[in-house]
Amino acid sequence: MLRSMLRSMARARRARRVSRHTSTVCIRVQRGAVIERWPLERYVTGVLAAEAPVGAPPAMLEALAVVCRSFALRAVVIRRSRRYDVVDSRLDQMFVPPELADANVVAAVATTTGAYLLDGGQRRSTMALRAMFHTSCGGATDSPDAVWGHGAERIVAMCPGCSARSVRWDHVVEPASVRAFLGAPAGKDFSLDVVERTPVGRARTLRLTSGGEVRELRGEDVRRALGYDHVLSTWFEARPEPNGAVRLDGRGIGHGVGLCVAGAVVLARDGAASQRILERYFPDSARSTGT
Ligand SMILES: [Zn+2]
Repeated sequence: MLRSMLRSMARARRARRVSRHTSTVCIRVQRGAVIERWPLERYVTGVLAAEAPVGAPPAMLEALAVVCRSFALRAVVIRRSRRYDVVDSRLDQMFVPPELADANVVAAVATTTGAYLLDGGQRRSTMALRAMFHTSCGGATDSPDAVWGHGAERIVAMCPGCSARSVRWDHVVEPASVRAFLGAPAGKDFSLDVVERTPVGRARTLRLTSGGEVRELRGEDVRRALGYDHVLSTWFEARPEPNGAVRLDGRGIGHGVGLCVAGAVVLARDGAASQRILERYFPDSARSTGT
């Protein structure tokens, strides 16, 4: 009895702390050369206005609002010594002035005000998870550790919506386009092979051969160097072409970590509440109470 009273008092204290914390937070947003300051909830509204698919169902928008809020709150901690907390960029979160948000986005942010994901589900901590999202996973998500070599491990979520209908793409890597890695066009012996995959199947490590030189590169680094608009994900097969190029046949769009936006839309349309969507993509993280 006493123990349960103490537990509920601690929960109430924690909720108050979260509430005080999030309602006073301002996010420093770097937009081009300018640093703008936005109250947290206005910032989240602007991110959803920029990032959420038009016509997305309310439960999906609510889940995305919690994810974007978590990312921003953690960024405040991680980047406190910098001039900014977040950058208006696809590497962080895209942002537009919140006045551009439609009524559905405004409602989703209001419904989830103050709520964010707790890092590692640490019940005694109010530290926000550095939660990520991406466009379409291709069938399953991967952990940050598997994709970037650091961060949480072993978080893999099956994504029924993307398994049933995964986005497919292809891109031909011409020998000249690997100049970014070599400082010169590739030699006649150019090849690009996947040598290590994540638990789901994304290319974790690639071996680039050219001019007798062999380099091992992380999949996400290759994607960044060749262009996110060309190599849409690291979940691909690499095959040599007759003309010396390498063809990538891939699935999914984005890094594949955290919430899959396409999959969350499907779950929400099938009737899942935002909490259930978050539990699927962040099985190790509890959601804070919000305000
Ligand atoms: Zn998915």
